[in-house]
Amino acid sequence: MASFTLQGIPVSRGIAIGRAHLLRPAALDVRHYLVAQELVEAEVLRLQNAITQVHKELQTIWADLPQDAPTELGAFLDVHALILSDPMVSEAPLDIIRTRHYNAEWALVTQVDELSAQFDEIEDDYLRERKADIQQVAERVLKVLTDSADTVPRSDSIDERSANMIVVARDISPADMMQFRDVAFSGFVTDEGGQNSHTAIVSRSLGIPAVVGMGNASQLIEQDDWLIIDSDAGVVIVAPPTLVLEQYRERQSLLQKQRKKLGKLKKTPAVTQDGVEITLLANIELPADTTQAMEAGASGVGLFRSEFLFMERSGQAHRLPSEEEQFLAYRAAVQGMKGRPVTIRTLDVGADKPLDTTEHNILNPALGLRAIRYCLSEPQLFLTQLRAMLRASAFGPVKILVPMMAHNFEIEQTLAMIAQAKQELSAEGKEFDPEVPVGAMIEVPAAALALPMFVKKLDFLSIGTNDLIQYTLAIDRTDHEVAHLYDDLHPAILQLLQMVISAAEKAEIPVSICGGMAGDLRLTRLLTGMGFRELSMPAALLPEVKQAILNTRIDALQPHIKKILRSYDPVVIRETLAAMESAGQTLH
Ligand code: PEP
Ligand code: MG
Repeated sequence: MASFTLQGIPVSRGIAIGRAHLLRPAALDVRHYLVAQELVEAEVLRLQNAITQVHKELQTIWADLPQDAPTELGAFLDVHALILSDPMVSEAPLDIIRTRHYNAEWALVTQVDELSAQFDEIEDDYLRERKADIQQVAERVLKVLTDSADTVPRSDSIDERSANMIVVARDISPADMMQFRDVAFSGFVTDEGGQNSHTAIVSRSLGIPAVVGMGNASQLIEQDDWLIIDSDAGVVIVAPPTLVLEQYRERQSLLQKQRKKLGKLKKTPAVTQDGVEITLLANIELPADTTQAMEAGASGVGLFRSEFLFMERSGQAHRLPSEEEQFLAYRAAVQGMKGRPVTIRTLDVGADKPLDTTEHNILNPALGLRAIRYCLSEPQLFLTQLRAMLRASAFGPVKILVPMMAHNFEIEQTLAMIAQAKQELSAEGKEFDPEVPVGAMIEVPAAALALPMFVKKLDFLSIGTNDLIQYTLAIDRTDHEVAHLYDDLHPAILQLLQMVISAAEKAEIPVSICGGMAGDLRLTRLLTGMGFRELSMPAALLPEVKQAILNTRIDALQPHIKKILRSYDPVVIRETLAAMESAGQTLH
């Protein structure tokens, strides 16, 4: 097969080499995960049992048909039973489990999609419509499988096959990404998505090479094709020639050595050459991520995206996590950080993180009932979360961070809800830290422009540059068609950052950055030079940023920073940034 190269948007670091693992959008939406070798036969059995059970169900329905039932009904049941007995439905998915290690649901849907595609080609209308019958039969089997999903043993051991597999998909939902966390794929390639779409964020926090916004890569790449992801360049090489493969393997091992070397900086404080200390914090999605945060030497958690606890709950009895469940998760994060502060963000659902898939129908979801707007419209849900966060604060330093603040009344209502939660807990004799700091995310331009409106009511600020850029430049962060317009060096963004830092200084409250800009090495000198002293990023990026800080002199940056902030010319801004970088390189 001829080699070819595809260009996309880089969202993560490093190189991945492996075989393509295609995730086709299926007519039926199911869970996707790989089954470890030792559990393959159990998974095969699970599917066989489900098929047998559906056979029995069909027989029972047949037997219970009333005398006067239309004859077509019986005929349909016969067709369904026939379909279920056909080896293309009952045997082929078992082979998929054995050869590709897909879970039963995924294997079944893969085969059904394959069959559906074949049916689409059929000229005869009657036969073509039998496709719907196949899907109905599959749905019956899936229902049985889903009901049994929680009893399925899941291996903790990483399936060695997945270690060199690269997931290729049209898009991967944040919820699906959460499942992939446990599987250790070596890379992700998606047709859709932008640099800071939530799928990109999860892959970055996993430290896995990924390229998004590839257009039609999932059509061009075939199952099991060899791929190289050069994540820094945003390039995917399909079917690389041996020589190229060898070069990349060499680069890969060099990168691994560099990473090991950076690991030695774990205990070194992030202090610039002129003695300015920068606090480097980690962004996490689940309590278990605190392990990686500690390993990277993070001084705390600057952003715990709590909404990931609310996602992917299809197999569970309750749609929302209870107060107790949330409390245990927040406490686990606090304990995992061993006394270092944990900033927990209140639920930020909506936009590309829907609580359930029906919310996809909303027009312009990014401008809709998202984050704090959603929480204030669901006071009981919000109160439950605030109570859980407060209870976790009895076990170590917790800060509460509220996303998407734009209006004064949103802050007032939030503070009132926190006061209510505290009152309730006190009345119940439950412990919490009465001084828990409350901060706002600055990610709506209105908040940055009118900070004096509410800054005095807050204990700290954290800038979400991903949304600040999305809303300021009016570009959907998940839409790859406008990804080229995503510009963190746009003068409007730099001016807004400057406004926030001045307002925070005036109000004498700390301000951090927790959006993607904080972990971007190109911008470390710019942000520290502007006065930011707290940066929160995926743990995997922290060591490199620390190294850049160790090689920086804040005082030497000042003339460049002034020039950048005075300029409204994108060329001058970029040239000055480049000059500042090369001056920085010669420092040590
Ligand atoms: C941001 O918007 O920059 C941010 C940190 O929040 P999220 O990416 O989760 O929207
Ligand atoms: Mg945000």
